[in-house]
Amino acid sequence: MRENDKAGCVGFIGLGTMGREMVRNLLKAGHAVQAYDVRAEAVAELASDGAVTATSPADAARGADLAITMLPDTPHVEAVVYGEQGLLKAPPAGRLIVDMSTISPVAVRRMAADLAAVGIAFLDAPVSGGPVGAKNAALSIMVGGEAEAFARAGRFFRAMGTTITHVGNAGAGQAVKLCNQLICGINIQAICEALALARASGVDLEQLRHVLLGGSAASWMLDRLGPQMIAGDASAGFRIDLMLKDLRLVLEQAGALDVPLPATALVTSQYVEARAHGEGANGNQALFRVYDRMTGRAAG
Ligand code: NAD
Repeated sequence: MRENDKAGCVGFIGLGTMGREMVRNLLKAGHAVQAYDVRAEAVAELASDGAVTATSPADAARGADLAITMLPDTPHVEAVVYGEQGLLKAPPAGRLIVDMSTISPVAVRRMAADLAAVGIAFLDAPVSGGPVGAKNAALSIMVGGEAEAFARAGRFFRAMGTTITHVGNAGAGQAVKLCNQLICGINIQAICEALALARASGVDLEQLRHVLLGGSAASWMLDRLGPQMIAGDASAGFRIDLMLKDLRLVLEQAGALDVPLPATALVTSQYVEARAHGEGANGNQALFRVYDRMTGRAAG
C-alpha cells in the first residue's frame, strides 16, 4: 500500500475465480472487506482469510467506503444493483459502486444514470490479467466514469492492480475491455491454428512454442495457455462460457456502431462450437479441442 493509501472498508460481491483473489489482496493491503456471494461456501472460504461475512449485497455494503461487484454477466450485476436487497436501495456509506465484471456498456450507462439520479457514483472498471494477475495484484484495470469517483477508488484499485487507467466516461472501461477481449480471442484462435498445423506437420509442439516465444509471434496467450493446449489440459481458468459472453458483447457493440469485425465473428462461432460440445466450463485453452475435432486428431 502507498504511504498515503489509508485503510478503508469494501463491500465485495462475487467471490469466484477472480473475486476471491482480489479480496485477498484488499485484505493484505490492510482494507476491511465485507464479502458476499450467493454461494455460502465461497463466503466461508474468505472468512477464514479475514473477510467479514455478509448475507446480502446490502449487508456487504453497509457502512463501507464503496461496493465492488465481480460477477459473471450483466443480469447478475443488475440483480445486485436493482434487487430487493440491492445496492440502489442500500448503497455503501461512501455512495460509490464499482463494477469490475465484464458486462454490456449499454447496461453500464443505464445503471450509472439511475444511480447518479439518487446521488450514487458508479464506475465500470473491468480487468485484464486473468486469475494469475488477480492473485499477484497485477491486474490491468480500465475505468470509465467520473474523475472524482476514480480518484476515490484509487487506493482500492492499487491493492488489486498495477496498470490503472481512467479511460473516459461511463461505459468507456467496458469499451476498452471489449477491445482487449477481441484481441485475446483472435490470438487464442491463431495459436490453435498454428498448433494444429504444426501437429499435422510432425513438429514437436513444445519446441514450436519455445521458438515462437522467442520471436515476433510471442504472446501472453501462447505463453500461458500454450502448455495446457499441448498437454490437452482443459481445466478451467477463464471459462469458455465467459469468453463467449464477451465476444457476443463485442459483436453487439460493433453492430450498434456499424463496425465490421469479421475475425471476431469467426472466432465467436468456434466458441459456440466448443460450448455445443460441452466445453463451456472448461478454460479458454479448450478452444484447441475444436481443432482436434476438425482435424480428427487429439491433443496430449
Ligand atoms: P466466476 O463465475 O468464477 O465468479 C462469479 C461469482 O459470482 C461466483 O462465485 C458466483 O457464485 C457469484 N454470483 C453470481 N451471481 C451472484 C449474485 N447475484 N450475487 C452474489 N454473487 C453472485 O467468474 P470470474 O471468472 O471470477 O469472472 C468474474 C467476471 O470477471 C466476469 O465478468 C468475467 O468475464 C470477468 N473476468 C474474468 C477473468 C478470468 O480469467 N476468470 C479475467 C478477466 C475478467
